[in-house]
Amino acid sequence: MLQLNNIVKSYKTGDFTQVALDKVSLNFRESEFVAILGQSGSGKTTLLNVVGGLDQYDSGELIINGQSTKHFQDSDWDAYRNNSVGFIFQSYNLISHLSIVDNVEMGMTLSGVSTSEKNKKAMEVLEKVGLKDHVHKKPNQLSGGQMQRVAIARALANNPDIILADEPTGALDSETSEQIMELIKTIAEDKLVIMVTHNPELAEQYADRIIKFSDGKAISDTNPLANQKATSNYTLKKTSMNFLTALKLSGKNIATKKWRTGLTAFASSIGIIGIALILSLSNGFDKQISSYETGAMSSFPITISQSAMNIDLAERGVVAGTDLPSYPTEKKLYPYDPTANSIVHNNVLTTEYLAYLNKIDPTLIDGISYTRTVNMNMLKSDGVKATTVDKGSITFSSYPSKQGAATGSYLEQYYDVLEGNFPTKKTDLVLIVDEHNRLTDASMSALGLNYDVDSINFTDLIGYELKLVMNNDYYKRNGELFSVNGTASNLIDMYNSDKAASLNIVGVIRAQEGSTMSTLSAGIAYSDDLATYFIEDAKNSDIVLAQQEADHNVLTGQLVSQDIAGSGTSGMASPGTLMDKGMANTLGASASSNTPTKAEVLASLGATEIPTSVSLYPIDFGAKESIIHYLDEWNTNLDTKDKVMYTDLAAIVTNVSGSIMDGITLVLVAFAAISLVVSLIMIAIITYISVMERTKEIGVLRALGARKKDITRVFNAETFIIGACSGVLGIGITYLLTFPVNAILYNLTDLKNVSQLDPVHAITLGVISVVLTMLGGFIPAKMAAKKDPVTALRSE
Ligand code: ADP
Ligand code: MG
Repeated sequence: MLQLNNIVKSYKTGDFTQVALDKVSLNFRESEFVAILGQSGSGKTTLLNVVGGLDQYDSGELIINGQSTKHFQDSDWDAYRNNSVGFIFQSYNLISHLSIVDNVEMGMTLSGVSTSEKNKKAMEVLEKVGLKDHVHKKPNQLSGGQMQRVAIARALANNPDIILADEPTGALDSETSEQIMELIKTIAEDKLVIMVTHNPELAEQYADRIIKFSDGKAISDTNPLANQKATSNYTLKKTSMNFLTALKLSGKNIATKKWRTGLTAFASSIGIIGIALILSLSNGFDKQISSYETGAMSSFPITISQSAMNIDLAERGVVAGTDLPSYPTEKKLYPYDPTANSIVHNNVLTTEYLAYLNKIDPTLIDGISYTRTVNMNMLKSDGVKATTVDKGSITFSSYPSKQGAATGSYLEQYYDVLEGNFPTKKTDLVLIVDEHNRLTDASMSALGLNYDVDSINFTDLIGYELKLVMNNDYYKRNGELFSVNGTASNLIDMYNSDKAASLNIVGVIRAQEGSTMSTLSAGIAYSDDLATYFIEDAKNSDIVLAQQEADHNVLTGQLVSQDIAGSGTSGMASPGTLMDKGMANTLGASASSNTPTKAEVLASLGATEIPTSVSLYPIDFGAKESIIHYLDEWNTNLDTKDKVMYTDLAAIVTNVSGSIMDGITLVLVAFAAISLVVSLIMIAIITYISVMERTKEIGVLRALGARKKDITRVFNAETFIIGACSGVLGIGITYLLTFPVNAILYNLTDLKNVSQLDPVHAITLGVISVVLTMLGGFIPAKMAAKKDPVTALRSE
């Protein structure tokens, strides 16, 4: 059954070689109770370890069931220990954090016996050793004798052929020793039991055969067995611990040190918390910024206005900036000529340019809006008389109508309705009041409202009617010249005629508080549709056609300047007469004389398609770049005076928000990276400590047939649990932290819900936490696997 032929085993410590087994040759029967006697250090334990496959012999041959073990692989030895051998130790070597049943079942667990069968067998052997009533206790709740019974039950559980007992009664009193010996004797009835003892009386009393050892040699044998011919063959069932078993084992171990595990998990979760917070913050900030970007986009369009701009050439990089330092401490005044570095530029919008704008890639823009100031013939009436509204006294302009706008209309975005509604129809007008709900006396007078009052109710203004009259109805021809069709002081007939279109004030609106884009002046605003409708009609009106032919003003008879400003195309040029005062002054200064140009006269008759300003609303910052590039392309190879300049207010905002975000992220990432490294090291240390603590357990598991891999698995399971705990803890804490963080940020910045933990991030971080902790524990786990089972079992 078991044969040892010239087995030699020696230990090297430094230069010294200790021969623990010196050519031992022994034969054992299938069932007998063999006692090994001998002095301490004579090699008894070594013999058991070699026979049990815990330790490998140097030379000779060990034959088990007729099979030589010479070519056994590690896995064969593991299977052999698991299937064929049961160990009983002097110090019991039970796994303290497992219950009695779990201890007994461990060998079967390793060889993959099903739960029910495992349990059945465990109960059987526990009953056999007389511990039926203690099965759910932990080892430390038992007496020494009881613990040894558990160890015997464990050794028997997998029904091995050989039981190896190393001084099983060494730690027990004589009475308990005898009980244990009785138990072992019954086992030996159908198994080979090899028991080491230094108690010759017990050996005499119970053993069938006594072998004496001295200096690594068997010096006597009371019942030797002649050499047998190797016959039978047998197969071993390979062992393997699945990860679930490893998890359970480590979980139970961890459960005995909850505080340590909890604190470890918490400490290592700090890295996760750091990263999760960064992600949640940058996630939130990203959302804030992109919503701010789209906000900034619509509030800061690229605007091209028919107005004079002071262009600082130094700022635009056209000329060199000043040599003077900024914020000098010298108390000196430096005179300088601003015009040397800047020019007054007059944007001349031509039909070609507008056509160019219209050809812009539509995917880049959210919309284009036009503001027009068209000299429409507008009449007011008090019921008795009607007069033309004096547009020099009140601002009359179109509100920008965004074409293709995705978001709400310009007015809806930047204005509050105080009374009535926003305009919906072409003929709807709105009255814009200033921030104090005021309108100038002149404006009110121009509208025909009585301004000699304290206030007027908004409700009285809703529905207020003005009438629009087309050029052909408004003017009549008198030979060469044209005049207004009616007496200047009363146009009531024209007002009442069905040719006058009724326009109504449908709402009183005011710029939203703090809005930078509410650029319309107090007065009346009409739709761009109305403006273009009038323009289209005016272009073909008699007076305009006549004016185009004439070299004089068809209303006054005065000569007009033929000098057409800008590119000189078909009379479409700056409607100087219609601009606000500041602009008119600039134009006045730049115009050669006080005589209006023909183009200006035409414009005053409403025959101009040129808007006073065009605003382009980019879709995003990238699109803005392309738009700017597109606008710059127009200007290439043009003289400075012909260039069309644009204003882009959003540029400044972008740079600031972007760099702040980068800075914050960088700092936080550095912080989190450090804490992650720290937790990695900490996990390595903790796992190393755990390996140290569980050395005995490693030995026991190896004795029960666990492979090196399984040991690694046990510690990987441990770090897995810690990693999972720290991940869950980290994410949980981060989630809870988002509330105070958001509250603080809201207080500081008025930004709501900045910190938002993305579930995908949370799961990713949980996985990262597990992977990293397992990485941290990987080397200690490998170390554990490499531990020599014999040394591990010897450790205390
Ligand atoms: P016994 O069990 O009979 O007391 P052992 O088998 O434990 O004796 O030891 C036999 C000899 O081998 C002793 O001299 C012991 O010091 C030596 N020995 C045992 N294990 C080792 C080891 N791992 N390294 C070095 N020497 C060892
Ligand atoms: Mg010993």
